[in-house]
Amino acid sequence: MKNYHTHTSRCMHAVGNDEDYVVSAIRSGYTVLGFSDHTPWKYNSDFVAGMRMHITQFDDYYKSIKGLKEKYKDQIDIKIGLECEYYPRYMNWLKDLVKEYNLDYLILGHHYYETDEYYPYFGSYANNNEYLDDYVDSVIEGLSTGLFSYVAHPDLYCRARNWDKYCEQAAHKLCAYCKEHDILMEYNLAGVRYTAHKKDMKYPHINFWKIAAQYNIKAIIGVDAHNPKDLEDKTTYNLALKTLQDLGIEVVEDIEYLKK
Ligand SMILES: [Zn+2]
Ligand SMILES: [Zn+2]
Repeated sequence: MKNYHTHTSRCMHAVGNDEDYVVSAIRSGYTVLGFSDHTPWKYNSDFVAGMRMHITQFDDYYKSIKGLKEKYKDQIDIKIGLECEYYPRYMNWLKDLVKEYNLDYLILGHHYYETDEYYPYFGSYANNNEYLDDYVDSVIEGLSTGLFSYVAHPDLYCRARNWDKYCEQAAHKLCAYCKEHDILMEYNLAGVRYTAHKKDMKYPHINFWKIAAQYNIKAIIGVDAHNPKDLEDKTTYNLALKTLQDLGIEVVEDIEYLKK
C-alpha cells in the first residue's frame, strides 16, 4: 500500500505528531508514505489562513519529515510533498519553494478560487453555479501547469450541493480533461470517513465516480490522513477499493514525481 495524502498538525485541523503518522503507516503495511500537508502561501496581504501552516513553519515541516525519512528508511519510503491550490498569482513563489527544497511531488487540492484571501471554500460555496464553473475551470487550468501528480478530491464541489445537471456537467468536464491528459483522480478517504458521520458530506459522490468510470479514469486512493489512526483504518480503505472495483475503475498506487 502507498499513500501520498497525509497532513500534519501544522494545518491546525489535524492531530498527532509527525512520527505518529509514520508509525501508523508502518503498522498498517504501507511501503510508501507521502506527506502532503496544506501548503503555506506567501500572501501579498497580511492575511493569515486558519487551515494551513504559516510560511514560517515550512522549514520545520521539511526538516521534520526529512529526519523521519532518514530514521525509518529501512522500513518505509517517505516522500515530502504538499497539497496545494492553484493560485495563479502565487505559482512562481510555489515553484521557487519546490526547487529550493527539492520537493518530491505536489497534489492539487483546490479548496479556493484564486486565493483564500478573497474567495470562499469551494466545499461550501460551489452551490453557486458560477462558482462551480470557476472550480472546474481553475482545476483544469491548474492541472495544465503540469506541476501536480494528481488531483485530490476532484468531486469536492459535491459537498456544497445536491446532485443536479450542473454537477453532472462538471464531472464530465473534469473527467474528460483528466482522461485526455492521463491525470490520476483521487478517491478521497477523508470524504468517506466524514460522510459516514455527517450526512451533509457528499463526496466522494457515487454519481461522479460513475461518470469517471465511463471515461476510464484511473483512480488513486488518498487517505487524506488528519489523524495517524486514519492510516490504520482498513475498513474505509477496503470500502473505497470495493466501490471502485465494482465500478470497473482501475486503481493505481504509483504517481509521477517532480523532475529533479
Ligand atoms: Zn485538511
Ligand atoms: Zn483537501
